[in-house]
Amino acid sequence: MDTGLLIALLNPTIALALGAAFLVLWSYQRHRPYLAVLGISYGLSAVGFLLQYFTLPIGMPLTKLASNICFTIAGCCLSSAIVHRYGRKVPYVGIGVLAGGGLASLCWFLFVAPDLTWRILAMNFAFGGISLLVAAELRPVRRNGPTENILFVLSLLSGVNFFVRTLVVVIAHGPFTGYDGFYGSSYWTTALLSHALLSLLIALCLFSAAALDVMKALKTETYTDPLSGLLNRRGFEERGMLLLRHCASARFPVALVLADLDHFKALNDVHGHAAGDRVIADFAAKLRSAAGTRGVAGRIGGEEFAVLLPLSDLAAARLFAEAVRTLYSAGHVDGLPAGTKVTASFGVAARSGDEALEPLMRRADDALYKAKKNGRDSVRLSYERPETAFVPEPLKVG
Ligand code: GH3
Ligand code: MG
Ligand code: MG
Repeated sequence: MDTGLLIALLNPTIALALGAAFLVLWSYQRHRPYLAVLGISYGLSAVGFLLQYFTLPIGMPLTKLASNICFTIAGCCLSSAIVHRYGRKVPYVGIGVLAGGGLASLCWFLFVAPDLTWRILAMNFAFGGISLLVAAELRPVRRNGPTENILFVLSLLSGVNFFVRTLVVVIAHGPFTGYDGFYGSSYWTTALLSHALLSLLIALCLFSAAALDVMKALKTETYTDPLSGLLNRRGFEERGMLLLRHCASARFPVALVLADLDHFKALNDVHGHAAGDRVIADFAAKLRSAAGTRGVAGRIGGEEFAVLLPLSDLAAARLFAEAVRTLYSAGHVDGLPAGTKVTASFGVAARSGDEALEPLMRRADDALYKAKKNGRDSVRLSYERPETAFVPEPLKVG
């Protein structure tokens, strides 16, 4: 088999395989339509390459036009999907102007003033412009993660490839007057190889991004309690430890509030388990809105909740707990008979020094136990100082 044919088959084969892979990925994740758009993009680019070699019965100029339309739609789909995946606003107008301008110029130099060199310049500059548009969109998010960064660099490289390589090859080996020997020319060979390499790298990067999306979704699911929508115990501990570490390095105070619904077993027995579930969801919603975005709130047991409050000392956390307690005991839960009072008890502890989450939770739990013993529907504080944080430095003698 000759090398020219091998190189010619390289792009459609790679593009078809990648397009199929993206479509399979999308069939498992229908809620991510950008994966389907990527599949379509790679599929169309394969058709575009095949049409470069096989002339349709409609004639050579129309086949070239069809091939370039495939490339253009593929480029628009790829750029929109990438920009959309990274949460940026797709610049439809910019992409449309560049793609439309490229195709209009192509038609002019195909049907009105036939000129292969200008057709090459028109299409490559249009694709280069679209690549640089994607790079401009990714620029603000490029530090968010490795795939953002790599795709930003690849979009830049792709832009440079379309502009610089085309210009260099056209100046050095142009002008091109016809298709005789064109597919063996340095322009076409470098175009095929650079396209194969860049499209492979971009696809690998997008596959990694899709894998990261799945991992993130699984992690969120593992860390979320479905009934309350709050973090579960595992999620609370993980996020809580991160928050404690952050607060320690920034020297921010942190306080912990533990809450436990009162006489919940009796409530379940009287009103049923479903009503109990509604009470849990209702309390969680109130706790979440009170904690806001800065606090880390979790359901750490059946009817037990925890909130870590950054930038809060014991007094501030006590005010928080009192506010939630009053709001809750005065409120009404939908689905419970009017006049049914549901209350909660609270234990509060402020972090001392670099105290870890576990001893902090133990102290807040002791305070909660006191609140339960003292008649419930109340807030109690931990004044205990953890021993480890206050071990004095041994005196150095001599
Ligand atoms: P105290 O005031 O001392 O906290 O008494 P309590 O009855 O609230 O505490 P206890 O630990 O004796 O009972 C907790 C109850 O919470 C027992 C269990 O059936 C109920 N529970 C735990 N998880 C769920 C849940 O997901 N849904 C419902 N409806 N009930 C739950
Ligand atoms: Mg309870
Ligand atoms: Mg309990």
